Amino acid sequence: MKYCDICLQPNTRPGTLFIDGNCPACTFILGSQVWDWDSRVSILKDVTHSFAKESSGPYDSILGVSGGKDSTRLAIWARDFLGLNPLLVSVNYPPEQLTKRGANNLNNLSELGFDIYATSPAPIVWKNLMRKSFLESANWAKTTELALFSGVPQIAIEMGIKLILWGENPALQLGAMETIGKTGWDGNQLRKMNTLSGMSKEWLAATGFRGENILPYTYPTEEAFELNNLQIVFLGWAMRTWGLLENGINASLNGLEARTESALKTSDLIGLTSVDEDWVILNQMIKYYKFGFGRATDYVNEWIRKGKITREEAIQIVEKYDGACSDENISSFCDFISISKDEFWEVVNFNTNKDLFKIAPGIRPAKTFRVGINLL
Ligand SMILES: [Zn+2]
Repeated sequence: MKYCDICLQPNTRPGTLFIDGNCPACTFILGSQVWDWDSRVSILKDVTHSFAKESSGPYDSILGVSGGKDSTRLAIWARDFLGLNPLLVSVNYPPEQLTKRGANNLNNLSELGFDIYATSPAPIVWKNLMRKSFLESANWAKTTELALFSGVPQIAIEMGIKLILWGENPALQLGAMETIGKTGWDGNQLRKMNTLSGMSKEWLAATGFRGENILPYTYPTEEAFELNNLQIVFLGWAMRTWGLLENGINASLNGLEARTESALKTSDLIGLTSVDEDWVILNQMIKYYKFGFGRATDYVNEWIRKGKITREEAIQIVEKYDGACSDENISSFCDFISISKDEFWEVVNFNTNKDLFKIAPGIRPAKTFRVGINLL
């Protein structure tokens, strides 16, 4: 494992590419200091409006939302700054997964004056796909992300909307280079990202569910995109202050309800990330065991890049909070996908990075590395 020279991002994330010792996000931020942001905004306004005017019907654009900080900020920015009239799409969680906070945040978007098109994939299929995904890779979120990413273009086609809005460009901001488009704002290669390309129809059908049951998880084909003239645009490309903290503050000022539990149970340092449900905390804990970094690292990395804290201060924070997840959270997840706690830890241990953690049956992996210190 090797850490970025600037922040605490290790190179353990699959597919990540460090340049001159810097992680993709730091490389992105360093480059962004010399960009002409006004010209980016002007380009984005032209681009979005030219695609928007091709849409038929009452909405000129479409945006997938969870009601969280990013979607709240994007919806307001698209409408009030870019002058678009977006339809918001929400793929609802089953009742066991949706929190009251999540429901309140979706209501907040309604109260802010947006129309929301909500879909609710059958819970029995949702649960089974989530179970299969967890048992295979310890990542339950693959299929739920697939539903959100697929639902938006499906509904765009149905409603005659040509312009699809997303936030950050995963190629530029996260280093997911397979998704790089013809320009920084172009998102039509999003289909190549891991979540969308790694889960074939055969994979879905292997659960025994077919036809309309797996339709919510089926991303429209390249041909369907071309036939319907769909264009995905990353708004984050022109948003100078795009980031965890700025998006969180902006959304909070517009009514977002934050997570209030201690970060010692959630690793969510300011309670503003993925607040629509709580098993994301468990997923972040597993990410920590797989790659040696979790949610707290995401926060401090941004603060280091912005000069708010030093790398040394960040190490103290990460040592304390990364990987946090309560036993209650793990129990409710195990109940939902019908596995025992022992089965849960068996899957997690199997997927844990054994160079970084020592594992033993039935208990949490024990850390054997020091944050910020290169092991290579
Ligand atoms: Zn970095």
